Amino acid sequence: MRLEDVTAKALELGFVACGVAPVEELPEADRCLGKWLAEGNQAGMAYLERNREKRRNPALLVEGARSVVVTLTNYYAPLADGAADVPVVARYAYGKDYHGVIKGRLFQLFSFLQESVGKSLQGRVFVDSAPVFEHEWARRAGLGWIGRNTLLIHPRWGSFCFIGVIISDFEPETYSSPYTESRCGTCHRCVDACPTGALRPYSVDANRCISYNTIERKDAIPGKLKEKLGNRFFGCDACQDVCPWNVKAIPHRDEAFRLNEWLPRMSREDWLQLDEDTFRERFADSPLLRPGLKHLKEVLSPDDITSSL
Ligand code: SF4
Ligand code: SF4
Repeated sequence: MRLEDVTAKALELGFVACGVAPVEELPEADRCLGKWLAEGNQAGMAYLERNREKRRNPALLVEGARSVVVTLTNYYAPLADGAADVPVVARYAYGKDYHGVIKGRLFQLFSFLQESVGKSLQGRVFVDSAPVFEHEWARRAGLGWIGRNTLLIHPRWGSFCFIGVIISDFEPETYSSPYTESRCGTCHRCVDACPTGALRPYSVDANRCISYNTIERKDAIPGKLKEKLGNRFFGCDACQDVCPWNVKAIPHRDEAFRLNEWLPRMSREDWLQLDEDTFRERFADSPLLRPGLKHLKEVLSPDDITSSL
């Protein structure tokens, strides 16, 4: 099957870019991960320490795997226009939770591959849900380079993209050419813009990262870090907002990620007063449901937390 037919179908399904890389082991990516873990950058995300072999070798995730199909979905949207006392969430959480949305589209793409080759394929789809080096596979599938902000940057679509992956025994006639150049040049804007000093070139210290602290952290956010959140309470886009490759980002027209009407309307006080039923009604299908209302209120609460960073 021709590579162009795979990418054409991916675009028809709503992805903005797609490429296919051959399965190989990733010893260099694994070595970098090992160093990052040894430095303690994972904070409370112990799951990143597990399944190292599977992350290094996709053939251990899917027996007989031959290829990694990688898709990008644009979620860029202009900043939600709220009043000064409206706390903000990262753009990826403006609409529905992306995991289910993207998985549904990946399953459709996988069905198309099976129909096209006329046989049943062995494969699995992944969206941020398994030990997979998504950024490196996207680079190998020709979709961009890994920037100093550690994210995949597509030369047209920038970095506000969800990455979806199909690992399977599908084999196209030809594979995509990997992206071999970095187009960050001498730019350092993302590192300079990080409000907490979490970002070093090509490495994020999750202990200080606002995204980890506001979404995944189970215990209280250290006081000195909480002071630096500004009006953020779920994620952080600072190291993407300043990237010159996002300046010309094109707003998506994806209904699934349309801005939840309540986000620009609710002040900090509204959030703190919100009850569970109303929260579930207003934010059904939203990524905000994952950490839950209690967690969100803790992040938003002005209470004094004394532990230091
Ligand atoms: S998400 Fe925010 S806190 Fe985390 S590395 Fe990027 S700029 Fe820094
Ligand atoms: S802000 Fe500059 S250094 Fe950072 S990812 Fe973008 S281009 Fe690269």
